[in-house]
Formats: sequence, structure tokens, C-alpha cells
Amino acid sequence: MDKKQIKIIKDIETIHAEIAALKKNGAKIGFVPTMGFLHKGHTSLIERSVKECDVTAVSIFINPIQFGRGEDFDSYPRNTQRDKSIISKTGARYVFMPEQKTMYGDDFKTSVSVKKLGKIMCGRHRPGHFDGVCTVVLKLFNIISPDIAYFGRKDFQQLFIIKKMVEDLNINIKIKDCPTVREEDGLAMSSRNRYLSEIERKNAPILFKTLQTAAAMTERKNISIKRIKSISLKMLNCNPCVKSVDYFDFRNCETLDEIKSLGNYFKGDARSGILIAAAIRIGSTRLIDNVVI
Ligand code: AMP
Repeated sequence: MDKKQIKIIKDIETIHAEIAALKKNGAKIGFVPTMGFLHKGHTSLIERSVKECDVTAVSIFINPIQFGRGEDFDSYPRNTQRDKSIISKTGARYVFMPEQKTMYGDDFKTSVSVKKLGKIMCGRHRPGHFDGVCTVVLKLFNIISPDIAYFGRKDFQQLFIIKKMVEDLNINIKIKDCPTVREEDGLAMSSRNRYLSEIERKNAPILFKTLQTAAAMTERKNISIKRIKSISLKMLNCNPCVKSVDYFDFRNCETLDEIKSLGNYFKGDARSGILIAAAIRIGSTRLIDNVVI
């Protein structure tokens, strides 16, 4: 297939009909939802879908209902031409780029409500965020009807909540998680990195460095979580560009329950990994990252 042959579609009926016809002929459909301003983290998901599926659809939609008041919806970076050119080199076949009014008409009145999992970690600092994410993802799932959808582990809580939504609401789509793609200095790639000034960009890898240090301390097992957290917060707060730390949490990878004591965790019958996840502000930019032990 000519890699440049991508179809840009803006309306729901067209993409729905095209994909339905392909599925009727037995094609396996892969789907990668994004908010655009693509980087290598996004393309790693798209390339995996292209490898594993017959046809890949990518969506670009900056979803207004997942942004809180005062957040960066208006300033979120956009570059559709560049995104199209990047996608055309991946082998994906469709780019679904609906207008806001296509996704949310004036009479839009229904949304997905995420319970406890949507109120911890990022959800505690961004009320309603995961309701907005799940609502748009469910809409996109219904519009595209993929067999497999690909999400990044950089947004671990989002991935976890989407997997749970798929299970709870009996959605017949397989969710695959993909590793975090990083810059050479360890900073997780993110469209929001674009906001960082030169000096902030230089200091931004402190987040991953602190998570790695915390992971190394955790693996030693002879130190309390309280102590690891205190050392980690000091590391972050000592950095001149870190304005605040939203959270620095130790959580069970399979439940997202908070882990308060490593002693109990290692002594108990817990077999699942430990997630260390954090969100910080570098200047006015909110960055998230995590490591799994
Ligand atoms: P976004 O455009 O930020 O909504 O992200 C779209 C998808 O790309 C989500 O599944 C993200 O988890 C994933 N993603 C974003 N950044 C990265 C990264 N650095 N590595 C891997 N996946 C990523």
C-alpha cells in the first residue's frame, strides 16, 4: 500500500460507513485516539497498530469536555498539516478529525461517569477530567468500531480507567498498552512539552529522574514509603523550575489502590507491580510521568 494514501474524514457517517465496509470484508481495524500535535510517542502507537491490524484509523480531536476551567484547552498546541504529514508516513489509512460541533451538538446531554478511580491522582486535581476522557473515547469507539485500540502507558491512570470502562460496559474492543517514549534525557514525550521555556525544558527531566530514584529505593525494600516520598519531594521541590507537586503516589498496578507500606506489600500476597506516578508543574506546564516496578 502507498503509505501516503491517507483519507482525512471529518464527518461521522463517512468514517462509520467506510470502516463498516472494511469490517464486512474481514479487515481487522486498529484505532489510535489522539489530541494531535503528534510526536514519537503517538507514532509508536500508530506504527504498532499498522503492524498488528489490517487498517489503522487515527483520530485527532482536542476534547473540550476533558479540560477544566482555567486549563489549557484554548492554548493546546495544534498543527494539523504537520500531523497529517506525520500520519501519512506511518501506513495508517484514516484520519478522523471531527469539528467540535460534530462531536458535541447543542443538545448533548449524556456522559460517562467514572467513580472512585476518576477521583484519585490526576482526577483529584482535575475534577471531571476522566468523565470527559471516557465520554469521548466511548463516542470514538462507537464511531470507529475498532477491533483493537492503542493507548500509551505514559497516561497510566487513563489507560487503566479505559480498560475498566471497556470491562464494565461490555465494550467489545481489545485495549493494548504501549510503552512510554522518551526524549534522550528521559523526559516523557508530550505535546505539552512545547510550552516549556528553554530553562524549563532543561530542568524537566527531574520528574523522571526522581521517579527512577524512588524506584531504585523501593527495590531496596529496607526503606519506608514515607521516607522515599519525603526524599522524592525534596528532590523535586529543590529544583528551581518545579513550581508545585500535585501528587507523588505509590499504587498497586492492578487496582490503583494506594500502597502505604512496602513491608506489608512485600510480606502480603500482593503479586502485582508497584506504580509510582507523579504530576508536577514546571512553570505553568503540568507534566505527568510514572514508573512501574
Ligand atoms: P494525547 O494526544 O496526549 O491525548 O495522547 C494520545 C495517546 O498517545 C494516549 O494514549 C497517550 O497515552 C499516548 N502518548 C502520549 N505521549 C506518549 C508517550 N510519550 N509515549 C507513549 N504514548 C504516549
